Amino acid sequence: MRSGGLRLESELRLWVQAGRRARLWWRDDDARAPGEALDRLLAASAAHGAPLTLAVIPDGDLTALAQRLAGQDLVSVVQHGVDHENRREGPQAGEFPHHWLRLRVSTQVRAGWVRLQALPGVHKIYVPPWNDVHPQLAGALADSGYLGWSAAPETEPPPLPPRVDIHLDLLRWRGGARFRGEAKVLEALREQLAERRKAQRWDDPIGILTHHLVMDEPAWAFLDSFLAWTMGRRALTWAALPTLLPSVAAPSEVRVSATR
Ligand SMILES: [Zn+2]
Repeated sequence: MRSGGLRLESELRLWVQAGRRARLWWRDDDARAPGEALDRLLAASAAHGAPLTLAVIPDGDLTALAQRLAGQDLVSVVQHGVDHENRREGPQAGEFPHHWLRLRVSTQVRAGWVRLQALPGVHKIYVPPWNDVHPQLAGALADSGYLGWSAAPETEPPPLPPRVDIHLDLLRWRGGARFRGEAKVLEALREQLAERRKAQRWDDPIGILTHHLVMDEPAWAFLDSFLAWTMGRRALTWAALPTLLPSVAAPSEVRVSATR
């Protein structure tokens, strides 16, 4: 991937002309244990110096994962639900049935946090499986002292806790997970950039989503070339998820870490 195509390149030029840098961040879901795919993911992050947020499912013995992640300075660990079990009827999967009350949802997410909190690089940030936003989830997270959460931007989030969403999923899911395709991902990135530029919301982060356990070779190849390509662009910068949350870093610190 030498260039992102003409339309994306001209969008990036507009950002450079405006003296702005778009903030990208990267989330990978479903880690539970070390393995070949996780090694490959960590290697990609390290090779390009790209901060990686690992959304970990806290339902088993996390000792081996904790050992593997020790000393991985680019990795932030966050909580991916409680056990990744679908307890819903109907097309939208979710861990918590809709009739569950706020207290019951809080109790579940807190129990998950207790199991996760010893991992290196961990932050009290919540990522619901399937990006499902249960009606009581925001309240339950606020009750339980979460610093933030992350889903997909289909719903308008309540003000607290702050939510930092993902926008570009490298995979498509219907009929089995596979790479969405370079043209589609780059066009989606261009749309996100144009949207922010037109609204003067220059600092709104753009989230990239991967799933290391089910990525096919074209997705891995794209990830590697995409990371390399972004690192050479004046209009793009990578940020770690915790630095994008107002409660973790003051606005001035966010700016510094984002332009480094
Ligand atoms: Zn998941």
